[in-house]
Amino acid sequence: MPGKQTLTDQLDFQQDPVTAGPQVKVTVNITERMGAPLTFDAANYEELYQQVAARAAQRKEAGSVTCDLSADLKTDASGALTAAVIDAPLVTMLPAWPQKARQPQADQAKFDAWRASVEAHETTHRDIYKREYPKFKTAIVGPDEKAGDAQFKAVSAAAEAAQDAFDASSQPAPLAAPGGIIQVPRRNATDVTTAASADPDPYADL
Ligand SMILES: [Zn+2]
Repeated sequence: MPGKQTLTDQLDFQQDPVTAGPQVKVTVNITERMGAPLTFDAANYEELYQQVAARAAQRKEAGSVTCDLSADLKTDASGALTAAVIDAPLVTMLPAWPQKARQPQADQAKFDAWRASVEAHETTHRDIYKREYPKFKTAIVGPDEKAGDAQFKAVSAAAEAAQDAFDASSQPAPLAAPGGIIQVPRRNATDVTTAASADPDPYADL
């Protein structure tokens, strides 16, 4: 039995190799670590909000879990698939605001609440990989390298589909608007009346 690898003090684990099918030994190594943060260089909360909103408008998340997935397929002299070693290093990125400590407590709290929501979202992305990737152990059965590669790709594609389904069903909570103002997204032309509500009497000067 191979020794348990401890790369860093981050959570990581190695799954024990198991024999899948009559002869293909599949090993799945899933590791987890934190990557560099996504830094929002913003002097105040208003700037932060603008930057976060601009990123969201591009449909980019403020966090991520990436995986440089690789498979090493081994064959014997006859071309039969004998083993597969899958490496799945999960790297999580979360947002950071370097100027946070100098901000009002209320703004810090709004950032922290938002970051926690992003963190919970990315944790689920990791959980999906940790649920899907062990399926390599039973899916990769050969009989040859070509078949093994197709079996590898099928599990990988299913995992990505599961990630997309999660994103379609659940997104992190948005960053709270600055100044405690509740901003209601305008859905159609009838909503323009809400803009006038900021001025209780737009005709007072007439
Ligand atoms: Zn997501």
